[in-house]
Amino acid sequence: MRKPILAANWKMHKTISEAVAFADAFLPLVAGVTNAEIVLAPPFPQLASVAAALRGSRVLLAAQNVHPEKHGAYTGEVSPTMLTDVGCRYAIVGHSERRHIFGESSAFVARKAASLLAHDLLPIVCVGETLDEREADRTFAVLEDQLNGSLVEVPDARAAEVVIAYEPVWAIGTGRTATPAIAQEAHAMIRGWLQKRFGATGDAMRIQYGGSVKPDNVAELMAQPDIDGALVGGASLEAASFAAIARYQENSK
Ligand code: PEP
Repeated sequence: MRKPILAANWKMHKTISEAVAFADAFLPLVAGVTNAEIVLAPPFPQLASVAAALRGSRVLLAAQNVHPEKHGAYTGEVSPTMLTDVGCRYAIVGHSERRHIFGESSAFVARKAASLLAHDLLPIVCVGETLDEREADRTFAVLEDQLNGSLVEVPDARAAEVVIAYEPVWAIGTGRTATPAIAQEAHAMIRGWLQKRFGATGDAMRIQYGGSVKPDNVAELMAQPDIDGALVGGASLEAASFAAIARYQENSK
């Protein structure tokens, strides 16, 4: 049984006071959610304050990125040990904005994922095709390539700790959500790849969908057999909206 995981990716939004106000408003709204993991990923400077605000709750903290090295001359970067120190449990790696805006390769994503596992942090590894790639009928080839490259350093014994986020680039921040059927088709392909690569562990691994998830579409997405969670950008910025997403099971049949 895969525990659902609903994660908020705040990207480059919210000051410290806004982030803490979110946590204060959000926690009472999700206090009754016990059968899903809820994760908040604020920007780096807000992590410590959000960690303090979440203390004593079940809501977990994530970073939006990490550098694979533990320390060194990497100006502007943040190491996995710094993330554990501040209270993170997860870190997002390979988000399409990092791949496409900052030119990160799957090989670099692979180093980050392996380093997170080595430092007792859980990676959320993002994959997803662009609109051009989908229209050229290359979706599965792109996903396979990203999975091959990004998970190459994950030891078999640690695979169950890795979360995959399938995020079609054309659905991110566009209001254009993949239909549940389109999302499920990609998730089933990813599941098949995970099973081939990690054997039975592939069944236990969680695959989130990301791309314009909202309170009114989360339940039908989560009803798909291979969708185990959501990675949410825009709709995670308001406490009530992300709480409604985290509480989707109350509206599921
Ligand atoms: C994201 O940033 O991972 C994302 C899915 O954004 P949005 O929900 O705004 O499409």
